[in-house]
Amino acid sequence: MPFIPNDQAARILASIVESSDDAIIGTDLDGRILTWNDGATRLYGYPPADVQGASIGLLIPPEGLGEHARVLEQLRTGSRVAPRETTHVARDGSGLEVSVSISAIAGASGHVAGLSFIARDISARKRGEAALRVSDQLWRSVVESAVDGIVVIDARGRIESFNPAAQRLFGYAEGDVIGENVSILMPAPYRQEHDGYLSRYLREGQARIIGIGREVQGQRRDGTVFPLHLSVGDIPGEGERKFTGILHDLSGRVRMEQLAREQAAMARVGEMAAVIAHEVKNPLAGVRGAIQVIGTRLPSGKDAAVVTEIIARIDALSRLMEDLLLFARPPQPKTAPVEIKALVGATAGLLSGDPAFRDVHVEVEGVAVQVDADAGLLKIVFLNLLINAAHAVQGSGTIRVSIAAHDNVCGIVLADSGPGIPSEILDKLFTPFFTTKARGTGLGLPTAKRIIEAHSGTIGIDSPPGGGTRVTIQLPIAR
Ligand code: ADP
Ligand code: MG
Repeated sequence: MPFIPNDQAARILASIVESSDDAIIGTDLDGRILTWNDGATRLYGYPPADVQGASIGLLIPPEGLGEHARVLEQLRTGSRVAPRETTHVARDGSGLEVSVSISAIAGASGHVAGLSFIARDISARKRGEAALRVSDQLWRSVVESAVDGIVVIDARGRIESFNPAAQRLFGYAEGDVIGENVSILMPAPYRQEHDGYLSRYLREGQARIIGIGREVQGQRRDGTVFPLHLSVGDIPGEGERKFTGILHDLSGRVRMEQLAREQAAMARVGEMAAVIAHEVKNPLAGVRGAIQVIGTRLPSGKDAAVVTEIIARIDALSRLMEDLLLFARPPQPKTAPVEIKALVGATAGLLSGDPAFRDVHVEVEGVAVQVDADAGLLKIVFLNLLINAAHAVQGSGTIRVSIAAHDNVCGIVLADSGPGIPSEILDKLFTPFFTTKARGTGLGLPTAKRIIEAHSGTIGIDSPPGGGTRVTIQLPIAR
C-alpha cells in the first residue's frame, strides 16, 4: 500500500516506468498491448502507436509461440512464472537476447486483470560469455597440446592443473597430483625449501625465480631426477594468487652435451695416440731387431732365455701400440660384401690357435647373412669380443654366437657363461682405457664400438638375468 495518496503514487510509478532502461509492457489477459514505455521502444524499435492493441506475440519468434501461450495460461490461472532468458524479435527482424519477467497484475477485486512484461537486453552479456567460452577453449587446447609441461599452483603451492605434457614428463596422472603440494615434483633439498620460497615471495615480493626462469631439477614419480628449465609466472587477477610454471625438459640437451664432451675427449686421445705410436713404434722395432741380433750371438742357455723374454715383452708393447693406433685412427671401412657367419667362424679359428684358449669352444649358429663391410675391421671386432669372452670363462667353456636377419638388420649376439658384468661398471665399458684386467688395455670394446659405428651399426653389452655376458651387434644388411 502506498504511503501517499493514490493519484500521487500512480504518477510516481508512471515516471519510474517511463525512465526505466528496461522494456516495461502492460497487456490485457489475452496479451494485447496496453502500455509500452520508452525502454520498450528503444529495445524493440516500435513506437508506441505501432503496437497499441497488437498482440505481445509480435515480439516472440514462431518457435517460441507455443511456450508463450502456456506461460500466459499459467498466469491467467494465478500461478507465478520464474524469470527466463529467451530470444525476442525486434522490429527489423533481428533477434534479441533478453531476460524476461512476466507477472500478473491484480485488479481492484483481487482477480487477474492484466499482465506485465519486463524485458532486459542481455545480448552484450551473452556475447561476453560466448567470447569467454571461446577464449577458454582456445587456452585449454593450447595448454593441452603444449610440448612443455604447464602446471598451475595456488598461493599455498597446491597443484590446480597439470597438463598432459607435465603428466608425461613426471609420470603422474592429473588425478594423482591435483591438490598436492608442487614440491612433490622436486628432489631434496628443494622439496623441503619450496614452501619457504613461496611464502617469502608472497610476503616480501622478492622474486628468485618468477619472471626469470632457470635450470632446476625435477623428480619423476619413479624417483629419477632430471634437468629442466622452469619459468614461473605470477597470474594477475582478482581473488586468490596463482602461479604458472612452464617446464621444459632438458635431459636431451644434457645428454647431447655429454656426448659432445666425450667426442672431444676421444679426439684428444686420438691425437695423443698417433704421436705415441709414431714416437714409440718405430724405435721399438729397431730395439727388437738389435736384441735379436745380440741373441743370435749368445750361446744357448740362461741368457738366450732372457732375450726371448725381452722380445716377448717388446711384442706385447707393440701390440698395445697397434691397439692404440687402431682405436685412435677413425676407421675408414673399405666395404665389400661379407658373409658374417663365415667371418665369425674364421675368427673363432684364430682364437683356437692360442694355447691359452685351447679349452674354449665357439659355437656359431643361425643364418648366413651378407653385409657391406670391411672384413678386416669386423674381424678385429669379433676377435676382441671372443677374447673378452674367453677371458671371462677363464680359458675353458663355451661361447655361443648366434646370427639372425630381420628387417634389413643383421643381429649378432655373443654370449658367454662367465661371471657377467657388475651393473656399476656397465656404463664405463666403452670408455677408452677402462679395464678390470691386470694386463688389459681397456681398448677392445671402445675400438669395437668405433668400428661398428663406422659401419652404421650399433653395439651393446649387458648381463642377462640368466648370468654371463651378452654382446649384441646390429649391422645394416646389404641390399
Ligand atoms: P680389456 O679386455 O683390455 O680389459 P675391453 O675394452 O675389451 O678391455 O673390456 C673392458 C672391460 O669390460 C674388461 O676389463 C672387463 O671388465 C669387461 N668385459 C668385457 N667383456 C666381458 C665379458 N665377456 N665378461 C665379463 N666382463 C667383460
Ligand atoms: Mg678386451
